[in-house]
Amino acid sequence: MFKVGLTGGIGSGKTTVATIFAGLGVPVIDADQVAHALVAKGQPALLVIQQAFGSRVMLADGSLNRRALSDIIFADAEQKKCLEAILHPLIIDHLQQQVAALAADYCILAIPLLFETHMTHFVDRVLVVDCSVACQVSRVMARDHYSREKIQTIINSQISRVERRAKADDLIDNSSMDCDAVLLLNAVHSNIPHKLLAEQVKTLHNLYCSLSRSQGR
Ligand code: ATP
Repeated sequence: MFKVGLTGGIGSGKTTVATIFAGLGVPVIDADQVAHALVAKGQPALLVIQQAFGSRVMLADGSLNRRALSDIIFADAEQKKCLEAILHPLIIDHLQQQVAALAADYCILAIPLLFETHMTHFVDRVLVVDCSVACQVSRVMARDHYSREKIQTIINSQISRVERRAKADDLIDNSSMDCDAVLLLNAVHSNIPHKLLAEQVKTLHNLYCSLSRSQGR
C-alpha cells in the first residue's frame, strides 16, 4: 500500500484536507486517534504509562489525566522521550495493522507530528498542509478559544514552518487569504476555502494514484 503522510502545524488545516481526501474515497487513518485509543481506560499501554509516571497522571476513575501528562512532558524533554518510547512502537504497530487491512490505490496517514516524532520512514511520500503562523493562530483562537500565548507555545514546540516546508514532497497551500475571508464573512462563505483546497487535493489525488500504480502497489 502506497502511504502518504499528511502533516502540518496546529490549525494548518490537516483535518479539513483529510476530509476532502476521504470524500474522494481515499482511506484516511489518523495517528492521533490511534494514540488516543491506545491509552484508553484499561488498555495495557495505560498501565505502562502509570508505572513510568506514577499516579499523578491518573484520574480517580482509572483513566488517563491527559492534562497532567501533557504538563509533565511539555516541561521536561526527558519525560517526553520516555512517553514517546512507550507509545511510538505501539502506534506504528497499530498503523501497520490498519494499513494492511485496506484495499485501495493509496491511503492517507494523518500524522500531525510526523517530523517531530521521526516517523517519515513509515510513509512513502510526505504531504504538508501549509499556512502562515498568523493564520494558524487566528484559526485556532476562533476554533478552540485558546489564548494567543498558548497557541504560540504549541507552535514553538513544533518544527518550524521553514523546516516543515523544506521536508515536504508535496505542499497544500491553505493560506491566510482564504482564512481571513472566512473568518470575516463567517458561515456565509465557509465553502470558499474548501473549494480552493479541493482543487489542490484533486491534483494530488491523481498524482498519488499514478505513483501507486507505477510502483505496482
Ligand atoms: P489541529 O492541528 O489543531 O488538529 P488541523 O491542522 O487539523 O488542526 P483544521 O481543524 O482542519 O486544522 O482547521 C483548523 C480550523 O481552521 C478549523 O476550524 C477549520 O474549519 C478552519 N479552517 C481550515 N482551513 C481553513 C481555511 N482555508 N480558511 C478558513 N478556515 C479554515
